[in-house]
Amino acid sequence: MSGTGVGAVPVAQSDLDVVAEQLGRAPRAIRAVAARCPSGHPAVIQTNPRLEDGTPFPTLYYSTCPRLNSAVSTLETTGLMKEMTERLATDEDLAAAYLRAHESYLAERDALGSLGTQVTAGGMPGRVKCLHVHVAHALAKGPGVNPFGDEALELIRDQWPTGACAAG
Ligand SMILES: [Zn+2]
Repeated sequence: MSGTGVGAVPVAQSDLDVVAEQLGRAPRAIRAVAARCPSGHPAVIQTNPRLEDGTPFPTLYYSTCPRLNSAVSTLETTGLMKEMTERLATDEDLAAAYLRAHESYLAERDALGSLGTQVTAGGMPGRVKCLHVHVAHALAKGPGVNPFGDEALELIRDQWPTGACAAG
């Protein structure tokens, strides 16, 4: 049922089971595991642009690790998103990098199936509305693609990955 989008490698049942446990429900429209915690469990999943019933699902990358999500949620309470949004108005290089992140996100999603919209996720490219989106994007694509995802990961480095999510 899941993970069967065009060109997708089927997601292992063991990963689907872990994601279901992480989310507390069956994962929807999962296409691939896009990043893992060092201990091996899925940390970010890639979803198809539409759910099984056809509902648009514009968030291409979705963080599933509870420890990661908890650390990012705590970060969101600090007012960081407002500060990041304000910096977009004064830092041209940052704004350009954030626009590239948006364009990359959209191009990748459109390649899987166009939703007929330029809207991506997390407030891109003009605002910063959800750090989970940016962290998921940064983990899926690696450093240098989503500047705010990279920043957020740096800020939570002492909290994640730790414990069961850490290697070893
Ligand atoms: Zn984890």
